[in-house]
Amino acid sequence: MHDSRFSTGKSQSFYFPDDHLSMPSWFKGMVIIIAERGLWPADGLPVQCPSFCCSPGRTNCCCRRLLFSQPDFTGQKLQLQKAIKCYGHLYDFYPKYYCKMNFIEQYWGSMKLQFRAMGHITTMEEMEAKVVECLDDVSLLHIWSFILSFFLSIFL
Ligand SMILES: [Zn+2]
Repeated sequence: MHDSRFSTGKSQSFYFPDDHLSMPSWFKGMVIIIAERGLWPADGLPVQCPSFCCSPGRTNCCCRRLLFSQPDFTGQKLQLQKAIKCYGHLYDFYPKYYCKMNFIEQYWGSMKLQFRAMGHITTMEEMEAKVVECLDDVSLLHIWSFILSFFLSIFL
């Protein structure tokens, strides 16, 4: 993680300074970060709710939820995103666990449809050969149509 900036413009480093006596350059940890923000409650906070299941609507039930409800945390871009943009490239991160947005899943689905249409398979060798054959049978034009439809769904 890189330094954050509050709405007031004040900066907060998430790491101890390089010349820190006992933990040079170490991550400060959630408790210290929260305390530096003046948000640490007198009765403390658990690190996280059991099984990462916070009560809906709560923003101060645990350290994890409290930090991830801070505007500077939620608005922070990943270092990877910054690096990609710095080199003048475009990027597109797919929503996690939403396979329909990823065109490679459509390619895979098309392959599976052809595989099923080929009928019954009796050996592993036959299956491997048919998988390769089905992957090769999805035309490049078809793959490009997946990619194009994906980008059109974003921009239209
Ligand atoms: Zn929680």
